[in-house]
Amino acid sequence: MTPLEFDAHHLWHPYTSVTEPGPTHMAVRTEGVRIHLEDGTAMIDGMSSWWSAIHGYNHPAIIGAVKAQLDQMPHVMFGGLTHQPAVDLGQRLLAMLPEGLTRIFYCDSGSVAVEVAMKMAVQYQHSIGQTRRSRFASIRSGYHGDTWKAMSVCDPVTGMHHIFKGALSVQHFVDTPPIAFGQEWVEDPAANGLASLAACLEAHGDEIAALILEPIVQGAGGMYFYHPEYLNAARALCDAHGVLLIFDEIATGFGRTGKAFATDHTEITPDIICLGKAITGGTMSFAATVASDKVAEGIGGAEPGVFMHGPTFMGNPLACAAAGASLALLQEGDWQARVARIEAQMAAELAPARKLPGVADVRVLGAIGVIEMDHVVSAAQAHPISKELGVWLRPFGRNIYAMPPFVTEPEDLSRITGAMVHLAGVL
Ligand SMILES: *Cc1c(COP(=O)(O)O)cnc(C)c1O
Repeated sequence: MTPLEFDAHHLWHPYTSVTEPGPTHMAVRTEGVRIHLEDGTAMIDGMSSWWSAIHGYNHPAIIGAVKAQLDQMPHVMFGGLTHQPAVDLGQRLLAMLPEGLTRIFYCDSGSVAVEVAMKMAVQYQHSIGQTRRSRFASIRSGYHGDTWKAMSVCDPVTGMHHIFKGALSVQHFVDTPPIAFGQEWVEDPAANGLASLAACLEAHGDEIAALILEPIVQGAGGMYFYHPEYLNAARALCDAHGVLLIFDEIATGFGRTGKAFATDHTEITPDIICLGKAITGGTMSFAATVASDKVAEGIGGAEPGVFMHGPTFMGNPLACAAAGASLALLQEGDWQARVARIEAQMAAELAPARKLPGVADVRVLGAIGVIEMDHVVSAAQAHPISKELGVWLRPFGRNIYAMPPFVTEPEDLSRITGAMVHLAGVL
């Protein structure tokens, strides 16, 4: 068996058939914004390895921090012990996060960060005597991860609720905010989506612990950008009904939308925020759930007094070192100018796709560019074409999209946008 044959027979891949796995490439090395394959092809990464490699690959500052930490102390348990990388990262996170988010829970992956946030919400409600509040509200077309509670608040159609019916918690779903980012806001609740949220909270508010949503950008659920005013008003509705507000910024955090966090497009602060993906600059799996003092002190002030969660590898020093180095690059670098430049260039270079037959919409926000088709496009068909063009893209659903590393140079970005427009013309 060749290594690729072994892979095809024995290794599961994300959302991939095990019986008809389709083409899989052997990656051997990364450098800058490029992934090098065994056959000698170098591909410019338009995906940042699923939103994570914001500084490109093998950044010497991150590699150096991880190597130094590896020699000193790869891991210790976080129960009863702490360490400098965890403290340094916490300080950097607080300096960057919206004010009011102060209590950091380190965890293993985005999905776990969502589980932790949902558990915090339920335990907080319990601590203030709201023991009936064990359900959640969310907006349609969302994506929050693949573990059970996270999956229960994913879009009920694309989140495969029909397959897992019976095993999934039943949650409340409200309409996707209909007014797009950049469109004019309208006050009529029937037209701006808030009537749906208000009706849900009116009917079920007393059994809902929290509203969880992806602020501004719905990622894996459809690459849709919506109006910040929706969130300002949602905050007020949640407050009126005693419902906490959880922002899942796992995809949007750390500069992707042009602001440090998508929350920064709004005038409000959530009670709990979930961070992941880009937190280690794409080096390794790591995430964080950050709560307000109100949530943390509520949980601390009532039986059992401790938050009932604690992963084995919580606060792993290697991951903290990678994340600390990644945040230092953001805090000491010029990412805002770079993301603004990427936004302007993608907007200009993707615009011609609007005229192509089969293209429904073209939209750009920060370092996210989307060509939405009027039909589902096949990733398997797209791969050989984009590989030939030296660009790594992985369309899903009706969307041909890119979220390149912030360090992508204009020439490489033109190759990415060129490949996207080409794919829109042929798929
Ligand atoms: C990717 C993602 C998750 C899940 O993160 P994992 O690290 O894959 O578990 C959750 N929420 C959002 C918004 C995401 O984009």
